[in-house]
Amino acid sequence: MFKFNPYERYMMPAHFGGLHQDENSSGWYRDVTMMVVPFLTDREKLAAYLPPPFTVGEQAVVTVAYAHSKDVDWLAGRGYNLVAVTASAVFNGENEQLEGQYSLVWWENLADAILSGRELTGIPKIFADITDHSITDGLWQTNVSHFDNRILDMSVKNLRPPTPEEIEATQAAQEGKDHPMAWRYFPGVGGFGATVSEPTTFPSESVYTGAWVGEGSLDWNHLTFEQNPTQYHIVNALADLPVLAYLPAMVTTGSTNLFVPDRMPRVLDKKETLPANKPKESAIKTIEEIETVCFIGAGTMGCSNALVAAVSGYQVELFDISAENLKQVPKRFKEFAPFLVGAGYCTPDAVKAAFGRISVGADLEKAVANADLISESAYEDRGVKRDIHQQLDKLCPDKTILTTNTSSLLVSEIEDVVQRGDRFAALHFYLGSRLVDIVAGPRTTPETVDILCRYVESLNLVPMVLKKENPGYIMNALLASVLMRACALVVEGVASVEEVDRTYMRHLKSPMGPFGIMDMIGLGLVSGQTKETEGGAELPDLQRKIAAYLRSFVERGDLGTQSGKGFYTYPAPAYQAADFLNYGEDDSDIFDTLVSPLIRSGVLIASKDVADPEDIDRTWMIATNQSAGPFGLLASMGVDKFLEVSQKTQDKFGLFTAEQNELIETYVKQL
Ligand code: NAD
Repeated sequence: MFKFNPYERYMMPAHFGGLHQDENSSGWYRDVTMMVVPFLTDREKLAAYLPPPFTVGEQAVVTVAYAHSKDVDWLAGRGYNLVAVTASAVFNGENEQLEGQYSLVWWENLADAILSGRELTGIPKIFADITDHSITDGLWQTNVSHFDNRILDMSVKNLRPPTPEEIEATQAAQEGKDHPMAWRYFPGVGGFGATVSEPTTFPSESVYTGAWVGEGSLDWNHLTFEQNPTQYHIVNALADLPVLAYLPAMVTTGSTNLFVPDRMPRVLDKKETLPANKPKESAIKTIEEIETVCFIGAGTMGCSNALVAAVSGYQVELFDISAENLKQVPKRFKEFAPFLVGAGYCTPDAVKAAFGRISVGADLEKAVANADLISESAYEDRGVKRDIHQQLDKLCPDKTILTTNTSSLLVSEIEDVVQRGDRFAALHFYLGSRLVDIVAGPRTTPETVDILCRYVESLNLVPMVLKKENPGYIMNALLASVLMRACALVVEGVASVEEVDRTYMRHLKSPMGPFGIMDMIGLGLVSGQTKETEGGAELPDLQRKIAAYLRSFVERGDLGTQSGKGFYTYPAPAYQAADFLNYGEDDSDIFDTLVSPLIRSGVLIASKDVADPEDIDRTWMIATNQSAGPFGLLASMGVDKFLEVSQKTQDKFGLFTAEQNELIETYVKQL
């Protein structure tokens, strides 16, 4: 019997299983040549085609863009042509406003591209024959037709390189106004009513190798039902939009990536998440039990979480002992706010309103006086956190729930200092991810966990309740296993930093690999987690080599992105180059070696009953945007192969103890 898996991605026909993309597939269109012809048209005539809450942009501009794409990864190196007609538009949603290009219609000459773009993203794609462009005496030309009847002739001539002023003006004009948008509409069965009707956006990123400015021209043909029975109404509507003036046309060459992990296609005005533990209420609203949240520690996490809480409607008190750090708070907010807006989490107006709900200060008694919830994000030090919570327990009203945002300590290492063990838990946020871990201590009541879950949901984040405490929760434990294996491969001379990252990025469709991730976390922090000795005794050889390797970077001051240099040099690290993933070697052995500790770590967490396999996979998928977690990867690899790879790699690169290995193998053999 076929069973739908809620965490799988399907396309029709779904019953053959989820989307099993080849490991060489990615979002990259590696060779794209474009002709772009924009023109000014009549505002009212254009407005007739925009469904509310879309309106015509500042200027009524229609853009016709031809793209000739070659070497498309998801098509195994094949390509196709498209002609997209878009309108300058503003999306005036309840929760967000965006400026960009509303897609009126896209003609494409390949069914596969049409179907995936329509179903997954809602781009209004239809079929046409589109000739490869020709260039004769400086005249670039192409045309579109269907059923042998010409729809459009398009050309660009008199090309020249743009002046620096033109480049600057184009960039300034596009700043914040480059959102591609569409309306995803699937009719009900039989064509009546809508099964899906929603506005979408689908960001991509392009790298240009050439750009020229010229004069464009468009020649539409009016058609009859007999000439083009399925599209004549579309063609005629576009042909009837008056060309009041052509704007400068462009020809560009370069590459485009449709898969931008931090800006995935999404429904506008709605905050999409993977299925949460509990159904999320549709509208964001604060929960009854919590009105005021007090954040202790106004550093990276305190500031970021305080802003998120205030945006969601909570009164916020932000406390720090350092006057110097409190002075930095406005600057911190200014850094985080564009990130929240850019990620579609909230509107600029919501941020402005949030500032009115935040009080910042160094008076602890005042800060906690009305707090229903405390979120502590002070330094990661057991003594500091124990002192703070002991003090908070005395100062806070009885009703207050105390939580710690600790990354590496356990709840049980802190909670024994408070009287109110029933209202104490770990509430652990991640920077830039929707995931939030909730871990109860030995005395925490189910009511407290329930309030924290609902609080997290009210922030439009995803709560992950662990069944018991675990060092590194789920995500950090999984990630650490991959990062350490990546280092092991390099220190043992099996692969280079670039080879490891390339393998990981290619197979898991990740925007960066383990070394890029370590640069982002900060090598000081990563190195601090590794040791050469324990209790005076030397740790195994491999562990010492990894610790020494990471320490060497820190000693040189190469701390990753924060210092501009780590494994890579910033702001343009080699792994972001368009051709970084291009190479022919078979890297499946490296991938198996790299991914097996991730699976082992996931299995270990499940075997210790910290979380169920579904939640472990969900954690990884939410935090990384990848389409499979450790158990999904185990299913793809197969238990036998996993055991074989594990056995081979464990001896050489393994950092799991014999006891852990036994737990893992017993669990896997039962699957
Ligand atoms: P940070 O160094 O940026 O900020 C810590 C802040 O705590 C500083 O402003 C400091 O002045 C303040 N502080 C120290 N002692 C205090 C006290 N007694 N009372 C009040 N304030 C005090 O650190 P961060 O990155 O924000 O991390 C804070 C906590 O959050 C740590 O426990 C860390 O493990 C956890 N965490 C961090 C991240 C992350 O990505 N940075 C993610 C999840 C959890």
